[in-house]
Amino acid sequence: MNYADLTENEISQEIVKLGLPKFRGKQIFDAIINGQSLQEISVLSESLKLKIQDFYPKYEIFKKFVSKDGTKKYLIKFEDESIVECVLMSYKYGNTICVSTQVGCRMGCAFCASTLQGLKRNLSSGEILGQIYLVNRDNDGSKKNRQITNIVLMGSGEPLDNFDNVCKFIELISAPEGLNISKRNISLSTCGLVDKIYQLADKGLDISLTISLHATTDDERKKIMPIANKYSIKEIVDACDYYFDKTKRRFYIEYTLIKDVNDSEDDINRLVELFAHKVCHINLIMLNPVKERKLESIDKKQAEMFCKKLNALGVSATIRRSMGQDISGACGQLRNKFVRDKV
Ligand code: SAH
Repeated sequence: MNYADLTENEISQEIVKLGLPKFRGKQIFDAIINGQSLQEISVLSESLKLKIQDFYPKYEIFKKFVSKDGTKKYLIKFEDESIVECVLMSYKYGNTICVSTQVGCRMGCAFCASTLQGLKRNLSSGEILGQIYLVNRDNDGSKKNRQITNIVLMGSGEPLDNFDNVCKFIELISAPEGLNISKRNISLSTCGLVDKIYQLADKGLDISLTISLHATTDDERKKIMPIANKYSIKEIVDACDYYFDKTKRRFYIEYTLIKDVNDSEDDINRLVELFAHKVCHINLIMLNPVKERKLESIDKKQAEMFCKKLNALGVSATIRRSMGQDISGACGQLRNKFVRDKV
């Protein structure tokens, strides 16, 4: 058991079981949200700290990199020495944090650094929360003075491959007594685990759904995304329709433009067929360089043409601004420490 995975009430119950007064539960809960280590909590006595030390979270910021554009990448270290990356991006409307949901990833997408070493393990809900608490604090935030407005589950890992912990994370981060980030400001990005998309819709969590599509035919998709062997594009789109019917929330398609793979006129036409009549938006992403990968990006002008043609044919699409590329903090560049140290 770790307190970071628990609600305020659940911590209080555990505290009472230890023979301690219930109000200590709230103090501990607030300290976790404020990103404090156990040593830093001044309202608790040393003897009390000894009693709870096995259950108090022990994650920490291991390293921090700041990009020319102000984007910050953090390496977060957990108790078992596993390291994940998360990224904070500042926009006019607020700060968005991109968090990891797994150490590594087992989806095997051909363009992505996160999957190079496979999956090491799932993160607990508390470990996903911890990334936010620590980064909020590092940016002078606290529970009362929250510096993070939006969350995207787009770091390393496939969130729907860690379904239960991710759902619990969403409940905890949006709880009024927690950091209280609205579910509407949370986006989950998936390579398309269709059965889990249906489950997510049925749970009634009001979050934004984003699909990493990256191809317009199943054959092409299979070449770059192994998950395409399991689910077809049609099955994914049907699941998105179901998600929309349940939540009435516009869904998003991510489409990373890769030279000679998915950038043809036929691709444009197929995107139009698939999405022009739907309540969705396509985020076009410029392929970010990953050393070990041979795939090439198209140039910015070509991407702009691709986008313009989609718009002219009735598809809502924009090119996503790439941030933090110089610190390997952009889409697809996050990896785990074990790989990072070797390159
Ligand atoms: N597993 C989830 C979350 C990862 S999100 C998913 O597949 O959606 C990261 C987003 O960046 C995904 O859309 C992913 O396909 C995209 N991406 C991965 N590698 C990339 C790269 N090298 N350049 C640009 N985008 C990339």
